[in-house]
Parts: sequence; C-alpha cells; structure tokens
Amino acid sequence: SPWPNYGEKPKTNTPEVKAWVKSIDWSKVPKLPIRHTDSPGDPPECPQKEVPEGDCWWTCSGCYAPDDVVDCPGKNDWGLTFDDGPEPGVTENYFSLLKEKNVTATFFVTGMKSTKAPWLLQETIDQGHHLASHTWSHSGLTTLTNEEIVAELKWTEKYIFDHTGYKIKYFRPPYGDIDNRVRAIARQLGFKTVIWSNEWDTQDWQLSENTITSKQIVGIFNSGLKSLPDRKKGVITLQHD
Ligand SMILES: [Zn+2]
Repeated sequence: SPWPNYGEKPKTNTPEVKAWVKSIDWSKVPKLPIRHTDSPGDPPECPQKEVPEGDCWWTCSGCYAPDDVVDCPGKNDWGLTFDDGPEPGVTENYFSLLKEKNVTATFFVTGMKSTKAPWLLQETIDQGHHLASHTWSHSGLTTLTNEEIVAELKWTEKYIFDHTGYKIKYFRPPYGDIDNRVRAIARQLGFKTVIWSNEWDTQDWQLSENTITSKQIVGIFNSGLKSLPDRKKGVITLQHD
C-alpha cells in the first residue's frame, strides 16, 4: 500500500513528506518544545509549572487562538460532530438516524481508519454530511516533531482527496491537543482548527472503557441544554462513531 501503516505515525523520510515539509515557511513556526508523553500516541502530560501564555496550549491551559473554531455563529445553530471514524457497522447507523431526523453533521475521520472503510468517505458526502480531518494516527500533535505533524495532516488530506475528490479544509486535533506551533503548521497547510464548545464534550468515548453509562452521557447533554439560553453563540458538540 502507498499509504502509511495502520496504527502508526506516518514516516517522515519519504519523498512525499519531504516535499510537503519544504512547502512551509519555517520562520513563521514558533520554536516551542515538543511536549512529553509517557506513552507515544497518547496526549501529553501537563507540566508542573505554568504554561507560558504565548504557547496557547489548549490541553494544559485551556487557551483558544482567535481563529480556533469553538462555537457556531448563530445562537440556535448546532454543530454536531463525530470523531474517530469511519467505523463500519457504526457510522452507517448514524447515517440512518441523522437522515430520519433530517440533521447533518461533521465527521472528523482519521486517515488510518479510513483505509479500513474507504467507501464510507464518499458515503458521508453522499448523505449530505461534512467530512473533516482528525489526522492520520490520532496522536497528540504537540508531542510530535514538526515533520511528523506535517505528515499527519497531509497524508489524511491526500487520502480523502484521492477517495472523494474533496480537499478538506477543517481539522480537529486529537484530544484537542494543540498549541501555537501546531497551529502555525496547520495554518500554512491551509487548515482551519476546530475544537468543541466549552463543556460540550459528551464524554461518550468512555463508553468503550465502561467508565460511563449511556444514561450519564444523556445527563451531561441535558444539563448542557439548560445553559443554552445564556449563550450568545451556538454550540459545537463532541461525539464519536
Ligand atoms: Zn479523537
């Protein structure tokens, strides 16, 4: 296969990645530290000392950049988003339910998962939904080198383009893990960063770890609904397929 391996970070010593890396003006990318993680692929551990404000490291200080997308413009808009697919046998169920409810959503897919079910990419578009990127291997991006970040974003873009003809524009960093180094790279590659609205992580990913019940998730959602009248903008909610 010409594509990076399933479950691995894409290699950086290939001609494709070298060309993508060359296309970037590295003088515009801040030299922030590569963040530490005990297990590669996982989100970083937050340091004991305070994170410099200029890093705007969401994971460890909750900082958003002015161009991060975290809300919907209209008060009554709902940005329904599903991460980590496509997942054959699950994603199709969402398609049916969404069609029944006449709702469209954004699916933030990973490149590696897409290689297991490439037909679901075109199907997402045919169903009227929006495809976006969730990187190739779902690693914490702030723990990666500059070259690895480029490879994560560009391989996913290329895979989706080759299988649908669409060039994706929006990306969501796995675990929301982003700082100003990652942002500077993503911007130059033409991506807009999407996180999710404060307090609208449904925690549904914990279902697979049995650390939450579906009833509790509905409870989180319903308590969020109570805060809606106080919000000036619509919410982007985080779910998983
Ligand atoms: Zn994810």
